[in-house]
Amino acid sequence: RAKGMGGNHAQFYTEALNERTVERLNLEKALRLALVNGELSLQFQPQVEMASSRIVGAEALLRWQHPELGMVPPDRFIPIAEETGMIGEIGQWVLRQACACARQWRDAGYVGIRVSVNLSGYQFRDVDLVEQIAEILHETGLPSALLDLEITESVVIDDLPAALRTMWRLKLMGITLSLDDFGTGYSSLSYLRQLPIDTLKIDRSFIGHVASDTRVAAITTAILTMARDLGLATVAEGVELATQIEFLQQRHCDLVQGYYFSRPIAHALFMQRLATEGQILPAGAPG
Ligand code: C2E
Ligand code: MG
Ligand code: MG
Ligand code: MG
Repeated sequence: RAKGMGGNHAQFYTEALNERTVERLNLEKALRLALVNGELSLQFQPQVEMASSRIVGAEALLRWQHPELGMVPPDRFIPIAEETGMIGEIGQWVLRQACACARQWRDAGYVGIRVSVNLSGYQFRDVDLVEQIAEILHETGLPSALLDLEITESVVIDDLPAALRTMWRLKLMGITLSLDDFGTGYSSLSYLRQLPIDTLKIDRSFIGHVASDTRVAAITTAILTMARDLGLATVAEGVELATQIEFLQQRHCDLVQGYYFSRPIAHALFMQRLATEGQILPAGAPG
């Protein structure tokens, strides 16, 4: 029986594999052209300060609009960009674009509005990263304090000593660091104390259930308490409901980000929202 079916299984398996491989190769080929053809763009998702209900920053999120495939989600193309090394060039483009936009916010008078940029593991391991970022800040004229870099736990754990060196170099430049998707990775709390991070971003898989699952609520409460005791700011990701806002407000979460306030939006639209919802700082304030 095993032998008789084995052939079929193997054949199915091979065909499925081929299909996936072909699809992947096509996507890879298309991605190589995406940057030169101008198919990549950034959207910005507002980050709102709970205490003031004002927009104080935005996360830059990469978008790929392919002429035939339509919108390709980042979860599909970023892993390919990462494995092929294309993320190096794409990531640099993202950084430059994001910093240039944040500089525009500042020039428009919205001082102190920060931009958060996601860094992939590949970029983070690049020995030239710190110099590249310094150059981009110089070119765009964005004060380093207005740039926040998001990294995930897995990227840090890979090679902790090297990660610590890179993080400290970025910190010394005045850039802030956020730990993205917190709670989904290894979450070894012991190393958290060693990392020079400024902010914990609590993953959306927690936030989605804080108001409906008592165990998720307990874990999230613990994370918020711990973050505060460690002197870290907190951002809740994926906030969609008023009940979640209420939960987070009661537990003094600093910033919220999610569809409840806004989906990721085009740069021009983000500027419009800043006009009515942007943080107002006294004249002469830093930024
Ligand atoms: P992330 O950094 O955790 O970004 C947050 C993701 O959650 C975004 O998905 C955002 O659109 C989504 N989101 C925000 N609020 C809500 C909400 O209320 N409900 C739901 N259901 N989703 C919400 P997106 O834009 O599809 O990005 C997915 C991931 O792709 C990002 O997760 C990040 O890991 C990666 N990514 C995006 N842009 C870049 C980039 O420029 N560079 C790198 N290396 N990775 C990026
Ligand atoms: Mg992120
Ligand atoms: Mg995240
Ligand atoms: Mg993510």
